[in-house]
Amino acid sequence: MRELVIATKNRKKLREIRQLLDGYKVKLYCLDDFPGAPNIKENGKTFQENAVKKAMRIAQFTKMLSLGEDSGLEVMALEGAPGIYSSRFGGWPKDDEKNNRKLLRLLKGLPLSERKAVYKSAVAVAGKEGLIKVVEGKCSGLIAYTPCGKYGFGYDPLFIIPKYKKTFAELGEKIKHTMSHRGQAFRKIKKTLIKLLQ
Ligand code: IMP
Repeated sequence: MRELVIATKNRKKLREIRQLLDGYKVKLYCLDDFPGAPNIKENGKTFQENAVKKAMRIAQFTKMLSLGEDSGLEVMALEGAPGIYSSRFGGWPKDDEKNNRKLLRLLKGLPLSERKAVYKSAVAVAGKEGLIKVVEGKCSGLIAYTPCGKYGFGYDPLFIIPKYKKTFAELGEKIKHTMSHRGQAFRKIKKTLIKLLQ
């Protein structure tokens, strides 16, 4: 069976990636399986740059096919913030609730029509010879006035899908995958992955 390393330490993201790769004939590894793996600085200027960096560094280190994902939330009223700083928006140590509280504080007083946001996810695949492919998925929504729902992670309790009038945290993972930024990116890279894993 073919093997693929997921270059992340984020357990909630890893859980979603495992679900999105369900059905592929592949043995998945993550960074916990490689305790000596380098700590990757996410200092790129775009999601794609960071995703490529994660995939390439881990492919070089493990000499295995590797997948890097970088994602975040862009809020129109905040000129695209938090963007690539999404995970550390509320400061250190990284904390989802702190991030959400800061976002709500900055959007205080704005009506729903001015709370437009987009989730973005870049997914890169690399082998020991270098980068193979990078793709990006997007998902549009609105930032709620208060957190709602218990599923997902990060900004999901605040991210409303207008079609359902519910947050991703209320809708749950199955529905989230059909329309999320990450779900879209994985559908875009599916053909490449299937070829590589034959
Ligand atoms: P990364 O690990 O640097 O890619 O950080 C991604 C950050 O963006 C997460 O820590 C969340 O704050 C946010 N984010 C990305 N994708 C999602 C999602 O699907 N739901 C909620 N928050 C997300």
